[in-house]
Amino acid sequence: MATNIDWSRLTFSYTKTNTILSCSFKDGKWGEVESHTDDTIRISSFAGALHYSIECFEGLKAFRGKDGKIRIFRPDENAARLQRSAKFLGIEAPSTEMFIEMCIRAVKENIDFLPPYGTHASLYLRPTLIGVNPQLGVNSSKDCIFLMLCSPVGAYTGGNLEPINVVIARNYDRAAPNGCGCYKLGGNYAASLYSYNLAHKQGYKAVLYLDPAEKKYIDEFNSSNFFAIKGNTYITPESDSILPSITNKSLEAAARYLGMDVERRKIEVEELSGFEEAGECGTAVVITPVYQIDDKPFLESDEVTSYTFGSKTACGPKSLRLYNMITGIQYGETEDPFGWCVFVE
Ligand SMILES: *Cc1c(COP(=O)(O)O)cnc(C)c1O
Repeated sequence: MATNIDWSRLTFSYTKTNTILSCSFKDGKWGEVESHTDDTIRISSFAGALHYSIECFEGLKAFRGKDGKIRIFRPDENAARLQRSAKFLGIEAPSTEMFIEMCIRAVKENIDFLPPYGTHASLYLRPTLIGVNPQLGVNSSKDCIFLMLCSPVGAYTGGNLEPINVVIARNYDRAAPNGCGCYKLGGNYAASLYSYNLAHKQGYKAVLYLDPAEKKYIDEFNSSNFFAIKGNTYITPESDSILPSITNKSLEAAARYLGMDVERRKIEVEELSGFEEAGECGTAVVITPVYQIDDKPFLESDEVTSYTFGSKTACGPKSLRLYNMITGIQYGETEDPFGWCVFVE
């Protein structure tokens, strides 16, 4: 099937592809992986996923390289993270092998939707695990469906590496201390929507949350991790309530490889004034540079302390270097010294 997608205009939004894959866990075992052209699924209206958020998901990408090869970036890491999330929810998770096989099959069945090299676009994979048996009592679902969904995507913000402004909204949290902030659950996103919508109305592109226990240290954004550059050091927060981003982990490795120092530690808000570069990181765009952070005691009031970093129009040089290394590996432009990519033959 030929598509008439304008790859250069893709943003981070859904485009229907050829198929979705699904596999059911029922009566204590996984069934066959099925492929469906219809992207709607049929589940009980009493499914635990719908009532008690018994749902976790992943996000990763497949790229068409400069050398014509197709690479999936670190799917073993996403499989392991999904297994952690599922364990927290008390539900069954696919094995790493099953997870990666389904990633590869989804790419093959939707190859027409894998953007050509040079468009800065990619095929986003969205593995999703839901509890589906009908239930009223609050307990972990015994039956689940594991879905492998996909969609071609471009740059998340529409523009590549365009610096953004964000806000610290001290009167809101996305996660609780000792809660579920470190697992990739749909419920965490629901918890962040109110403050995100309010911030968005004020012109901010994202909310930067603080550690929910002391409100003293930087945690992360609603859907991405925080990092900063000071001198030759890559700095990112250490916290029990942030999602361990695979992009962040990759940036740390890239920074070390490029001869930078790496610090993963608690970061006090006041430290922001000493950073030369700051940014968001995640699968969607790898890096989004941040040029301004407004610290507001109440999101609804005008009281604010502002911190700025580098240029308002361009990504900082160290962030750019890291971005180029990661995207270079993903598109087969740079040698992959880490062996991160899984090839689709
Ligand atoms: C998915 C996610 C990230 C980014 O993780 P990556 O593995 O880099 O895509 C960061 N923060 C939150 C809250 C997330 O859900």
